[in-house]
Amino acid sequence: MSAETTAAKYEFKAEVKQLLDILVHSLYTSREIFLRELISNASDALDKVRFESTKGTDILDNGIALEIKVDFDEKKKLITISDTGIGMTKDELITNIGTIAKSGSAEFLKQLKENKTDANNIIGRFGVGFYSVFMVAEEVVIKTKSYKKDAPAVEWRSNGLGDYEIIELNEKLQRGTTIEVHLKEDNKDFAEKYRLETIIKKHLNFISFPIYLEKEKINTIAALWREPKSTIKKEQYDEFYKFLTYDSEPPADVIHVSVDAPIQFNALLFIPKKTYDFFGMNREDYGLDLYVRRVLIQHKNKDLLPEYLGFVKGVVDSEDLPLNISRETLQENIIFTKISQNITGQVLSYLIKKAKDEPEKYAEFWKEHGRYFKLGYTDFTNADKFQQLLRFNSSFNNDSDSLTSFDEYVSRFKEDQKEIYYAFGTSRDAVAQDPHLEIFKNKGLEVFYLYDPLDEFVLSSIRKYKDYELKSVDSIDLKNLDKFKDLEEKKEKLEDLSKDDSRHFDSLLARIKDILGDRVTDVKESKRLSGSPAVLVNPDDSMSSTMQKIMRMTNKDMSVPKKIFEVNRDHKLIRNLLKVFKANSKDEYITNVTEELFESALLLDGSLTDPHKLVSRLNQMLEQSSEWYTEIKKL
Ligand code: ADP
Ligand code: MG
Repeated sequence: MSAETTAAKYEFKAEVKQLLDILVHSLYTSREIFLRELISNASDALDKVRFESTKGTDILDNGIALEIKVDFDEKKKLITISDTGIGMTKDELITNIGTIAKSGSAEFLKQLKENKTDANNIIGRFGVGFYSVFMVAEEVVIKTKSYKKDAPAVEWRSNGLGDYEIIELNEKLQRGTTIEVHLKEDNKDFAEKYRLETIIKKHLNFISFPIYLEKEKINTIAALWREPKSTIKKEQYDEFYKFLTYDSEPPADVIHVSVDAPIQFNALLFIPKKTYDFFGMNREDYGLDLYVRRVLIQHKNKDLLPEYLGFVKGVVDSEDLPLNISRETLQENIIFTKISQNITGQVLSYLIKKAKDEPEKYAEFWKEHGRYFKLGYTDFTNADKFQQLLRFNSSFNNDSDSLTSFDEYVSRFKEDQKEIYYAFGTSRDAVAQDPHLEIFKNKGLEVFYLYDPLDEFVLSSIRKYKDYELKSVDSIDLKNLDKFKDLEEKKEKLEDLSKDDSRHFDSLLARIKDILGDRVTDVKESKRLSGSPAVLVNPDDSMSSTMQKIMRMTNKDMSVPKKIFEVNRDHKLIRNLLKVFKANSKDEYITNVTEELFESALLLDGSLTDPHKLVSRLNQMLEQSSEWYTEIKKL
């Protein structure tokens, strides 16, 4: 073979020309991705040669260090990227670089044609691979030597405008590929140390081969998620977590997932000890970092986990996704969807196990992240797991901090119980005072106490746990409670009313209804009360009061909802009222007491809009009673 070899000219294939034409003229602002593409190609080439080596193939320069070097020359406006990877033969150069075989670039062109979108907007979404270098370069030179010993080294050069040249080199090159990027004048600032270092750290920190920038190793953090779990120490997880999140404390939980079949991916997920402020400023600050073979594809991807698991931090690394997949097509990608389903399931299973094995730790988790987690009531696919993980305070608990799960509640069911009951209030004391609960207390029925309006939203949305309906205590059909016996006979029970008095009582109810008019739908004798004289209830099986309130708030409806006013005829106050009524059915005292009871009931219900009347009436009645009191006491 002679020492001189002549350069042969080749034309790019039509679709490559089209693509190059767009890239060469693009004013795209994130042109730095060219470096990501070139270094990830180098990393792929190193992976390939390592694979050949493990297969026992006869390889040129077997044993040289597998590494990537990035050098630059500011004056020459030059960046050089070299690797000791698999290299390319002349034929491979022509097929790999001269034609578009890869889905990313083809897809890019397709979208461009279909949508007539501005190329600048979509370049970032597609890696467009090797060709992206022409966004910044006026000339590119590739020198490459294949691992195949008898293949000559070749040089490829092009200005990206239509054709390229290939020369066979006579000089002996070491195995691998060197790419010279001669920068355009207005992109010369890429040939600068800090700039290059920043880009490499951002996109390529976890490449498994060392990347040297002018002899200095840049990627210092190992891609921990790819290491076998048994070899990783807790400190390494902690350190990685802090690097990832800037959290000063170690994580509460580490979930390390390695899946081989049917799809291959690794995920390293963390649950922080403390919640971030999801409902405030940082609402958008969630998501997992998505890598494809150690190259960062998307920071804080929001579709790998459903939003309610947004407190989970971490990375996912897929073997099977293409490097230059676009964000738009990700969601429709079946591999991506499978990964997402898999890790969602793994996180939920992890939590279920934690709740079972370490209930105290789970309670801590719940306190920090429960508020956010509850939003998962919309995840129908994982409804089973989600519901198992819900926690509420309950009448069974001794204090407001203790938590009860559905399963625990169900395990304490009374015989024949088929419903789960809940009550809403601003605090444990407030719920415990709620007259609606009296009948549940008398019958020893457990009731979930909800203090967060969201809880009611969650329960009324899921409606059922297993086969058991969830019922708000203020909209329950009392007949369903008849089968449960009272725990003990009511204390200080008043004598039953005589037939005659029963009739008078019915007339009293009619009088009360007269007074309240269309502010109530009906006035009835109550079967649910023991300690309170009266209560407002929703018609059977209607929406609970809190839900009505939420609905009214969202509709900006300020009117007071109409309810049934129930009166407890076995209450001392009502018995006295009956006496007054029998003497004079039009006595003003009846009106005052009725108004007072009604407005107090509204107050407890959270529906009293103006307390002025209630207070002045109360003061007036207190004044009267003080006179009677001083008379009786002969003061
Ligand atoms: P992709 O990486 O998605 O295949 P690229 O446009 O980035 O698409 O690269 C095209 C092809 O060129 C690669 O598949 C590979 O075969 C070849 N190639 C690019 N860079 C190198 C390199 N540094 N060493 C060996 N082969 C390379
Ligand atoms: Mg590539």
